[in-house]
Amino acid sequence: MSTVLIVEDEQHLADGLRFNLEAEGYQAEVAGDGETALELLTAHPGRYHAVVLDVMLPGIDGFAVASELRKSGQFVPVLILTAMGRAEDVLRGFEAGADDYLPKPFELAILLARLRGLLRRRRWLLDGQTSNGLPVTEDPADRITRGDRLTLEDQFHFDGKTIDFAALQIRAGERIIPLTLMEANLLRHLVQHSGRNVSRKSLLEEVWGLHEDTDTRAIDNFIVRLRRYIEAEPSQPKHLLTVRGIGYRFVAEPEK
Ligand code: CA
Repeated sequence: MSTVLIVEDEQHLADGLRFNLEAEGYQAEVAGDGETALELLTAHPGRYHAVVLDVMLPGIDGFAVASELRKSGQFVPVLILTAMGRAEDVLRGFEAGADDYLPKPFELAILLARLRGLLRRRRWLLDGQTSNGLPVTEDPADRITRGDRLTLEDQFHFDGKTIDFAALQIRAGERIIPLTLMEANLLRHLVQHSGRNVSRKSLLEEVWGLHEDTDTRAIDNFIVRLRRYIEAEPSQPKHLLTVRGIGYRFVAEPEK
């Protein structure tokens, strides 16, 4: 049985959610504020299979909870509930390490579907890690030409590093860097368009599904973070290049 932690300060909402999750066969617990949620999550790693996290909370907000959680090395799937459906807030949630979000008010059926998606993904990852290992790519160049068909199972190798889209991590020698779902999606999109300029606007649309007029610079923070993961000198990027006035370009093998 999957256990879900609901972080919500409005009692009636929390009760309603718990009731509905239990009716769906989940075990559900409620934390009324961010500090309590963090205590529970860090004291019992592995106990919760997913977190439904409200943003507006007394004390620290949901963004802070998500980023603290990631900082402590916990990658339990997090679904953020935000009354602020603005694109900037959505991006901020993903930046904090959320895996998915729903604007409030939401329909229960949609919440349940998203939650199932996150849990399925988590189970699938755990299974993948305990089996004989995931399929390894034959030829990275081949992968790129396959474009859209680059799927979650795939790994991408470049410059002595492996981006493992299935395990949500980058491996570089002994170093393993965990990725959030959004970081992995962003990287995948850039890798799929390897060698080509990708505009900020198209990243927002295709990676985040955001079509509104958004401050596209919000993406830059993600890029800074990805550079820390993959660049030897993040301030002098060789792979994840800025294309002035346009956006970015990923280059697997920079010319020497
Ligand atoms: Ca609230």
